[in-house]
Amino acid sequence: MNSRLIDKIREIVGKENVLISEEERKCYSFDARAHGSVPDLVIFPKSASQVSEVLKLANEHNFPVIPRGQGSGVTGGAVSISGGVVMVFTKMNRILEIDKENLIAIVEPGVITYEFQEEVKKHGLFYPPDPASHKYSTIGGNVAECAGGPNSLKYGVTRDYVLGLQVVLPTGEIIETGVRTMKGVVGYDLTRLFVGSEGTLCVITKIILKLIPLPESKATLLVFFREVEDAAICVSGIISARIVPAVMEFMDRASVICSEMANPIGIPEETGALLLIEVDGDEASVKAQVEKIIPILKEKKASEFRITYDPKESEALWLARRTLSQATYNLNPVKVAEDVVVPRSKIPILIRKLEVLSEELNIPILSFGHAGDGNFHVSIMIKDEPRDWEKAEKAVREIFKETIQLGGTISGEHGIGTLKSDYIDMELSREALITMAKIKKLFDPNNILNPGKIFPKYMKF
Ligand SMILES: Cc1cc2nc3c(=O)[nH]c(=O)nc-3n(C[C@H](O)[C@H](O)[C@H](O)COP(=O)(O)OP(=O)(O)OC[C@H]3O[C@@H](n4cnc5c(N)ncnc54)[C@H](O)[C@@H]3O)c2cc1C
Repeated sequence: MNSRLIDKIREIVGKENVLISEEERKCYSFDARAHGSVPDLVIFPKSASQVSEVLKLANEHNFPVIPRGQGSGVTGGAVSISGGVVMVFTKMNRILEIDKENLIAIVEPGVITYEFQEEVKKHGLFYPPDPASHKYSTIGGNVAECAGGPNSLKYGVTRDYVLGLQVVLPTGEIIETGVRTMKGVVGYDLTRLFVGSEGTLCVITKIILKLIPLPESKATLLVFFREVEDAAICVSGIISARIVPAVMEFMDRASVICSEMANPIGIPEETGALLLIEVDGDEASVKAQVEKIIPILKEKKASEFRITYDPKESEALWLARRTLSQATYNLNPVKVAEDVVVPRSKIPILIRKLEVLSEELNIPILSFGHAGDGNFHVSIMIKDEPRDWEKAEKAVREIFKETIQLGGTISGEHGIGTLKSDYIDMELSREALITMAKIKKLFDPNNILNPGKIFPKYMKF
């Protein structure tokens, strides 16, 4: 990028909002899992009109622009594949409005999810989407990835809370989509198209969110099983009894051992799997749900369980699950992570398949995650050696094949980015992918915005 262009961009966003030195730019060449190219420039816009001006310039001079929140993504979405400008939204981080009467909030994209949740809590309100990364990821990043989390089972995912958006199109036009009412069917639903578009169709500059009343109380149960199948069967047992917990998290034996090594909480040694279950609502309904769940746990052969109604004690029960992602690195230095989803009834088959694969390939494969949704974070832990990479690639293909055969999907919440784009046609037909590429070309004729992501092969058709 030549110095005249850099000067122009500095004029648009202000020189205090531009990073030029190589050391600083390098910090934006990776996300939580993928490494990419070092951007030519890193900028921190403060308004939609600044974003618009930069995008117009990008179309004129043909340089890529990559939107970025906190870079906690795990599929390479916020990472450039070839220089250009990384546009970071951490300085557009204001909560613009909390409308208590209409249960709506309006935020800028750089607001940290957890901080927003804590703010609305002060008003007795609840914003449920809670990716495990909520303490550092941004709402803009959550919207672009359609992030989910432990409580998606009862409350849904980010998509279910986005009523409308302000976005800047790749060619620089600023548009508003959606509504700030509970309903609205005027025109095509562009909001839904943009949610989960991984920063490839638009840059999100404002978000209208739906809020709900904060549940009065909750109970947390940590349940241990000797056999992994029993834990999986218990998940279906609870749902079949028409109880919908807010959370139903699963950890297999390998995950239990790993987390217990890193943060011991006294999990019984013979544990083959655990479930972390949370029910919420008013006090009476929480008690009623717990009373229904306990006999099911016994019937489904839970070996032991712990229960609390106290939010502080609940945090202690969550510790094993919350710290697991980081603890996995005690096994091996490289993680190849997938987030497949299968119908709940097929969970035992998937779990067995993972155990068999781990044995056959002789590499640790951990599975944990949002069992209530059938969404598993499968972590293949390897050494950074060609033989291990080969094994991981084989495992990933096998896991995806099995998932699709079971009627599932290869990503429930992490998206495709660059890391999964080679696998996308295992699930989607050529025709569907070409249709998506046509949509991308319509919005972004010069392929300026976050190029090389999701379906790069199909951009050539
Ligand atoms: C330990 C850990 C646990 C995690 N747990 C979960 C989980 O439970 N559930 C889950 O869904 N994810 C999870 N994630 C993944 C990640 O945190 C989410 O995808 C999150 O939504 C990314 O937010 P971010 O602000 O870091 O976005 P980034 O990583 O910076 O960007 C993610 C994508 O959004 C795009 N983007 C960012 N901001 C904008 C914008 N303003 N306009 C347009 N596009 C934009 C980027 O281009 C990129 O494609 C986890 C990650 C880690 C490291």
